Amino acid sequence: MLIRPDEKGRFGAFGGRYVPETLIPALEELDLEFNKAWADPLFRAEFDHYLKEYVGRPNPITEAKKLSSDTGLHVVIKREDLNHTGAHKINNALGQCLLALRMGKKRIIAETGAGQHGVATATVCALFGLECEVYMGVEDIARQQLNVFRMKLLGAKVNPVSSGTQTLKDALNEAMRDWVTNVGDTHYIIGTAAGPHPYPYMVREFQRVIGDEARAQYLARYDRLPDVAIACVGGGSNAIGMFTAFVPDANVRLIGVEAGGLGLNSGKHAAPLSAGSPGVLHGSYSYLMQDDDGQVIGTHSISAGLDYPGVGAEHSYLKDAGRVEYIAIDDDEAINALKWVASSEGLIPAIESAHAFAPLRNRDLLPEGSRVLVNMSGRGDKDMETVARLLSF
Ligand SMILES: *Cc1c(COP(=O)(O)O)cnc(C)c1O
Repeated sequence: MLIRPDEKGRFGAFGGRYVPETLIPALEELDLEFNKAWADPLFRAEFDHYLKEYVGRPNPITEAKKLSSDTGLHVVIKREDLNHTGAHKINNALGQCLLALRMGKKRIIAETGAGQHGVATATVCALFGLECEVYMGVEDIARQQLNVFRMKLLGAKVNPVSSGTQTLKDALNEAMRDWVTNVGDTHYIIGTAAGPHPYPYMVREFQRVIGDEARAQYLARYDRLPDVAIACVGGGSNAIGMFTAFVPDANVRLIGVEAGGLGLNSGKHAAPLSAGSPGVLHGSYSYLMQDDDGQVIGTHSISAGLDYPGVGAEHSYLKDAGRVEYIAIDDDEAINALKWVASSEGLIPAIESAHAFAPLRNRDLLPEGSRVLVNMSGRGDKDMETVARLLSF
């Protein structure tokens, strides 16, 4: 089961290109150029070179002794937190910047919610001398001032977005609008495995290094595969990056963890696969959070990186195919897991990643003795203000 989108850019019923007419040629060109580059050993060698020399790959897998003894599981962690800029997002930003250079684009635009994708993009643009503009909701700018400063320091321009809820989904709309106008010299780096084709496929390919490395590292170390691999799901890029290597291994269970916010019953969450329905958002047909009239519902998660009403098309396909199990973890379960992992292993996960650790405590989901591989998508430094407001010692 090797999954490729069909010629219409669909994973089963999901995906496609629901965009203004003017963007179709740009998406077709991007699809063509990406496929050429990805088949070109020189491009692969260049990508690998920067992953190694600049990002710091391969990052290790780490056996979590205390989490294992606490749970009766065998827990191993994939360490995306050790990447330059602190999370998996730089894998994709790097791949797309190299592609933009190859396509002769001079200007990069991106959207960002919490600022992590904006920082990763601004970082790589500084490295390659590309002009960089990042769209960010006014609300998010106020909440994430340190990342706004980082982006500016790296030489990027941050464009405040005051439409809608002034958050990520509005920043995405605004970036799309910019791209329609400036498509000649501009490449748009979407930060997750969502959006119109070829983004879900291209971002997956740039992120699959996570699972390709982890699978080989696990095999080399234990001479077998894990029983289960777990990753958190916002738009879905770190999860699909982890899962892709294991999808053909029918005996490896795959679990994607969405943001349950204040609980699925409260309606205040960001869990479209667990509690949403299919529809069109940001150029793609996929599960999303919408009301009966198809209006996108406001989301809530303690974790800014998971606070998105949609999800990548391939996850929708994997859900309906029954290959991946999707569950939701609430805000307070995630914060408890963060505290547990930090004090047990000396590793402070991002709040997003803490969602992937929380299910380790669930013996109904993970029977005793299971060998579990958890993707730690990023480190928690960026979240310490949020966590400090919630926990006291
Ligand atoms: C952005 C982010 C996520 C969520 O994005 P995905 O595309 O679903 O991976 C998860 N973890 C961290 C650390 C992030 O920064």
